[in-house]
Amino acid sequence: MSRRVVVLGAGVVGLCTALECARRGFSVVVVDRKPRRRDGCSFGNAGMVVPSHFIPLAAPGMVSLGLRWMWNSESPFYIKPRLDPSLVAWGMRFWRAATRARVAAAAPVLRDLSLLSRSCFRGMDLEFGLVEKGLLMLCKEDHSLEEEVRAAGMANELGIPAVVLDAKGLAALDPEVTMDVCGGIHFPKDCHLSPGRFMGVLEEELLRLGVRFHWESEVLDFDTGSSSLKEVETSGGEICGDVFVLCAGVWSSKLAKTLRLSLPMQGGKGYSLTLTNPPQLPRLCSICTEARIAVTPMDGALRFGGTMELSGLGESVALRRVRGIIRSAMRYFPAFSEADFAGVEPWSGFRPVSPDGMPYLGRTRRWKNLLVATGHAMMGLSLAPATGKIVSDLIEESDPAVDLSLLDPDRFG
Ligand SMILES: Cc1cc2nc3c(=O)[nH]c(=O)nc-3n(C[C@H](O)[C@H](O)[C@H](O)COP(=O)(O)OP(=O)(O)OC[C@H]3O[C@@H](n4cnc5c(N)ncnc54)[C@H](O)[C@@H]3O)c2cc1C
Repeated sequence: MSRRVVVLGAGVVGLCTALECARRGFSVVVVDRKPRRRDGCSFGNAGMVVPSHFIPLAAPGMVSLGLRWMWNSESPFYIKPRLDPSLVAWGMRFWRAATRARVAAAAPVLRDLSLLSRSCFRGMDLEFGLVEKGLLMLCKEDHSLEEEVRAAGMANELGIPAVVLDAKGLAALDPEVTMDVCGGIHFPKDCHLSPGRFMGVLEEELLRLGVRFHWESEVLDFDTGSSSLKEVETSGGEICGDVFVLCAGVWSSKLAKTLRLSLPMQGGKGYSLTLTNPPQLPRLCSICTEARIAVTPMDGALRFGGTMELSGLGESVALRRVRGIIRSAMRYFPAFSEADFAGVEPWSGFRPVSPDGMPYLGRTRRWKNLLVATGHAMMGLSLAPATGKIVSDLIEESDPAVDLSLLDPDRFG
């Protein structure tokens, strides 16, 4: 089949989409405003593949927790107060979506997406070092362990195995690392990988398959007919195609606006610190529940990631919050000291966060040859292969394996 697919954005969602399309025989072009050796959310993230994350960000309790954390300069969540109508509208939508009924409806969809993605990772037939040992949710306090035990019950009911462990059980699973915790949950189906390595392997494979990349080509506008797109206008010239896939991360909102579509998103800025020579190297990845930090071994290095800062799309680094990540890391892993983090350059990236915590995935009513694949927030790496598969199914006009109604890109207007 010689249909030309133009993928807008070379993050992990764009590359996984390009891979699936190229493997199905489409002619694929990938466009990105950055140079080939770029950085961004898809490179510095925590590398976790997470069927355990079946509860969307917009969940009961998150609004009040967020408001409490806002006043603590080292907390994992921060909204910079500002008179920005799009932020206010986003906040109202988040608040409306954070109900028990929404979570109950969203959880099976996220589960299906995650499990599909996990099987896509396993079946990719590329060597990128997927580690299938599971993920630990670590708790320091009894009340958070109780909450996690409840979540583990929900997970098991949904068919996602989750095992409750005390401190001894955790130590037995990962004996090489000292953890100061009271207990936690093991999600054996979760996996981890090194995102930089994964991105490199994807890019190599795409080149091998004949996919063409247009680097340093910022998408500025679209040439349209009455109901379809004809070409994208980029800073490097026009690119025409038969199908266009919008996967430009948090910047997709702006591009959607030029197409008279509404894809509300905030950039959830996060930081990570990668220790190339850590004093201890866990075997499993983990999330420190109270501090909301993620810890992932990556090919001998150890990455600590965290913070969700809704402060616009500026590149500045809030050193207080980076310090918060380091302090938290030392509280859960007492073998680590400040000296281990000395000289480690903090990385930052923007998660594309929709107000209801669900990705935008599917066709739009307005443009018949446009597909949208973005808004994956904290799960973009995890859900990218399933996203690519679903996009390709839709291009081929076959039914996707997951119910897409809650992911409708037109749901906010
Ligand atoms: C600290 C941290 C830890 C995380 N940990 C995890 C994790 O463990 N597991 C997980 O699943 N997810 C994790 N995430 C989230 C994950 O990184 C993101 O969801 C994912 O990278 C988003 O990928 P994307 O392809 O949608 O967007 P991006 O990676 O942002 O890619 C979008 C691309 O579009 C390009 N672009 C934008 N505008 C234009 C334009 N106008 N023209 C051309 N190109 C354009 C950009 O240059 C960019 O390359 C984490 C995020 C952070 C910040």
